Amino acid sequence: MKSSTDPVRNLAQLIACPSVTPAEGGALTALQAMLAPLGFAVERPVFSEDGTPDVENLYARRSGNGPHLMFAGHTDVVPVGDEAAWTYPPFSAATHNGEMYGRGAVDMKGGIACFAAAVGRYLEKNRELKGSISFLITGDEEGPSINGTGKLLEWAKAKGESWDAAIVGEPTNPDKLGDMIKIGRRGSLSGTIVVQGVQGHVAYPHLADNPVRGLVTLVDSLLYPAFDKGTKDFQTTNLEITTIDVGNPAVNVIPAKATATFNVRFNDTWTDETLMAEIHNRLDKAAGRRKLRPGKKAPVNYELIWRDRPSHVFLTRDEKLIGTLTSSVEAITGKRPQLSTSGGTSDARFIKDYCPVVEFGLVGQTMHMVDERVAIADLEILTQIYERFIADFFA
Ligand SMILES: [Zn+2]
Repeated sequence: MKSSTDPVRNLAQLIACPSVTPAEGGALTALQAMLAPLGFAVERPVFSEDGTPDVENLYARRSGNGPHLMFAGHTDVVPVGDEAAWTYPPFSAATHNGEMYGRGAVDMKGGIACFAAAVGRYLEKNRELKGSISFLITGDEEGPSINGTGKLLEWAKAKGESWDAAIVGEPTNPDKLGDMIKIGRRGSLSGTIVVQGVQGHVAYPHLADNPVRGLVTLVDSLLYPAFDKGTKDFQTTNLEITTIDVGNPAVNVIPAKATATFNVRFNDTWTDETLMAEIHNRLDKAAGRRKLRPGKKAPVNYELIWRDRPSHVFLTRDEKLIGTLTSSVEAITGKRPQLSTSGGTSDARFIKDYCPVVEFGLVGQTMHMVDERVAIADLEILTQIYERFIADFFA
């Protein structure tokens, strides 16, 4: 068997590359060596932006007449954490008891290894593709995601590339291969509230204005009432306060400033804009309440700073893509996968602006953990699912 048709060998080669974001670590070179013999034209654009490290990416295409299928993912991995806590070194790809250990085993070098193997097997059986396949692979998914998939899509589009469907190989299954396909993702929005008060002596509160009182009122307005009850396809929108900071070491001083940071995961009831407006509205109303600030006439003096870029909510409705993947999973595993929009954000949020996109990969239980590992049997099953999907997609 040629190396590129064996997902286990592919994965061992990828795990051996220490590609902790933003380092390429040899992982894209290893992938290029798998794809070039299969007839892919491989390009390796590097993207830059002030204040962030340069990141190398890979775009590989094998062209034919017919629809264009994109496989998307990332070769970068999160740091290994406490290396001494690993049973086997995190870049050794050691196997034990039917499992392969290594950082990225499931998130998501394993998905890439299987897709490359699936394409290799398909091409061994079918000399020609009735369409095009491309690999759109970034080294910047686990990091700031600035010099990665978003720019790679723009870059490819500027060269005239367009796609009919995309599959992202992130680990989507909670327990067993075949459990779950992701057909959308909630959006994500973060902000920091800064309340300015007047510092003073705790025994003379009328001379001061405690910003903590104001902040508590503002934060309360974001926690209740609920933003919505959820929708047919999504969980409820949820806001979590992730930190409250005053930094005041003295017990007898009213502090001058208090801040709180929040993150909202939101469903398709909202867009970034309508949700931002709702949050501003709640804070403005709450700022005028005097329940916790007796005697204070002016509204709470606050500023809201939006953090990072919001991630848009999206839902894929493409029947052909979802149906083809569902039947491929069912044919190989005997299980009908659940269609879900749960979990965090992924690079599918960029791809959805170019073509319908779904996500299906390995079992995610050990992702980002010490002793990240994959069942070797799952690598074979996922390869068969992807091969079946490629065959049905181009049929
Ligand atoms: Zn991932």
